[in-house]
Amino acid sequence: MSEKPLDNSDLDNKYFIDHAVYNCPFCNRRNVIYRLTNTLEFDWSTEKKCYVYTAKCSSCLRESMHLSFDDMLEGGDHSGTITYPRKFAKKLENIDSHIFYSMPTSFFTIDTRIPKIIRELITEAEGSLKMNYLTGASACMRKAIYEFLFYEKLIDGSYEDRVKSLKCKYPSNDPELFDILSHIQQMTSAKVHEQSWDKWDSSTIRLILETMKEILYEIYVLPAERKQRRNTIQQLRQQSLGESNPSKLAEPKIDI
Ligand SMILES: [Zn+2]
Repeated sequence: MSEKPLDNSDLDNKYFIDHAVYNCPFCNRRNVIYRLTNTLEFDWSTEKKCYVYTAKCSSCLRESMHLSFDDMLEGGDHSGTITYPRKFAKKLENIDSHIFYSMPTSFFTIDTRIPKIIRELITEAEGSLKMNYLTGASACMRKAIYEFLFYEKLIDGSYEDRVKSLKCKYPSNDPELFDILSHIQQMTSAKVHEQSWDKWDSSTIRLILETMKEILYEIYVLPAERKQRRNTIQQLRQQSLGESNPSKLAEPKIDI
């Protein structure tokens, strides 16, 4: 399995780290101070309130927008006299988990080495899942899988055959992940039209999402990281050995 998670469990991949610092989606600075410049509430439905927060980066001064069904402000008052600076409550843990939609979307949560079209579909599926839009999330995930197979030039044959070919193509990857992918209900069925698909339930979507993210990480990110580490080590070796003894540089490549 991979060494680095692709999801929000990594602090670097979060929007908000705490009430004071966040990772800016515009200038991509990590751990930068932000402030909430605007907060308001409105009625999402007759029973439910929705809260809008805009966060301004102290570095690039750009503002991102975040929607939540939770009142997260310190003091919890969106109306009446506005006292600035407003902040999220200090005791609040995992602020991101309370937010169901952000603009810009948290594109940085998925490594940019993964093909853009697949990355965008997965981000959209995650957003839809957070909002509990299961039909949308299911459609995005199905399309992400098809785009992935297409990107890997696996166009002919049944769905199961194509995933099997993928498993053979990447023998060093975790085979169990491909097995999960090949057994997804409905992907294997002969239904062609989008309208005839049933949506998956949220736990199935989550399983498919996490499986896909892990597979994508192993195929597109991990080898590139290994290569980078190998290059760094080769460079260090060259520096360490110096140019005075070039014969030593011809030693076998280090395999990490
Ligand atoms: Zn910024």
